[in-house]
Amino acid sequence: MPTPSNPLKAVRGTRDLLPPETALWNRVESIARSVFSRYSFGEVRTPIFEDTQLFARGVGEETDIVSKEMYTWEDRARAQSEKAQSLTLRPENTAGVVRAYIEHNLADSGQLQKLFYIGPQFRRERPQRGRYRQFWQIGAEVLGPVSSGSESPLRDAEVLEMLATLLDELGVKNWQLALNSVGSAEDRKRYAEILRQALAPIKHQLSVDNQRRAETNPLRVLDSKDPADQALIDGLPKIADFLDDSSREHFAQVSAALDACGVTYTINPRLVRGLDYYTRTTFEFTVPDGSGLGTQNALLGGGRYDGLSEMLGGPRAPGIGFAIGEDRLILTLQAQSTEQAHEPRTLNLEPTKLDAYIAPLGPERNAAALALARELRRAGLSVEVGDGTFRLKKSFEAADRVARHIVILGEDELASGILTVKTFATGVQKKIERSALVDELQRAST
Ligand code: AMP
Repeated sequence: MPTPSNPLKAVRGTRDLLPPETALWNRVESIARSVFSRYSFGEVRTPIFEDTQLFARGVGEETDIVSKEMYTWEDRARAQSEKAQSLTLRPENTAGVVRAYIEHNLADSGQLQKLFYIGPQFRRERPQRGRYRQFWQIGAEVLGPVSSGSESPLRDAEVLEMLATLLDELGVKNWQLALNSVGSAEDRKRYAEILRQALAPIKHQLSVDNQRRAETNPLRVLDSKDPADQALIDGLPKIADFLDDSSREHFAQVSAALDACGVTYTINPRLVRGLDYYTRTTFEFTVPDGSGLGTQNALLGGGRYDGLSEMLGGPRAPGIGFAIGEDRLILTLQAQSTEQAHEPRTLNLEPTKLDAYIAPLGPERNAAALALARELRRAGLSVEVGDGTFRLKKSFEAADRVARHIVILGEDELASGILTVKTFATGVQKKIERSALVDELQRAST
């Protein structure tokens, strides 16, 4: 039973986002939308829950996500016409986008599809700073028939260059791009076998989690952050030595296009990523320690998934995509802004102030205050209205907290049509004709 001393709380690993912080989230999302539209991406919104099969097949049964982290339930039939089925809160959005691509026959246009999404994802992970059970991703996918150029290394480089531009426009400092190629599905399979063999004699020296992975999903061992395993992992065979010629050439062309754009990167042969659908290019953007993320320093990750559409029963549709952890992006921006407060920023992290606060003097002035607020708001100004029961001192304090100007509405002001307006930044108090108020406030807000 909830009581006042023991009220209900948000579920572990989930959190409320409140103003003024949500204003920062909105600014980040609007910069992302602006960048996406300049690169010709359109928005896609897929359901938050899907058939469990989608993730089992797409992401892979042996991945941590599918084997341990999904929120799955048996959904009961409610009518004869319905079947009971296993549903899952989406742990990621790529599988859902590719399902939608297949379901709506987007291949029929013959065009490259460039789609972005912004929304919550769900994984039952151990919560810590930068790692939540409900978290937000800003992501995008580029896919289409081979004839649309979807397999071209130009697409990989364009996506990576766009991400570099987005992080720069957001004002993220010191990001680093790590790049690798995991080759074709066959290369990956061949390499997984070589890795399994190389791991067999040393397996018992690995941490418990990695002992299991060495059997079920040996590529995941490379991803391990367990400090005790690092020396062993460094000695394992590298995937770069097992790529076929076309994957090698593809990767060389991605790198050359990035060089031409001046986007810097390092090649990390251990970057194989946790999801089964990746082929060829994989990548991750990180920020250095001390950027607010603690050990969770990956801001975003992604890669190519040339066989995913077929795995989900669709036509051949090579593609590449990424997902930015929005929670981590915000933590980074907040941490970097306190560290580097002196540097000019493109993104304002401070809550923005309203144009005006209207203070009615006495309850009988409330109706007139609301009418004045309506006029100002309809002219595009942001306005808060106090209450006629407040003393003038309280109104001034409240106004100073949230607005740039206070407009006082007393008996004299109403009778004369001349309002008293104080600007907090300068301390100047003026009389302004009611008919000139909109113009005056608009001028002050530009
Ligand atoms: P993934 O879908 O695993 O490739 O993850 C892409 C990005 O999403 C990561 O680089 C993180 O920034 C973010 N992310 C993944 N899992 C979580 C989580 N549990 N909490 C917060 N962010 C996450």
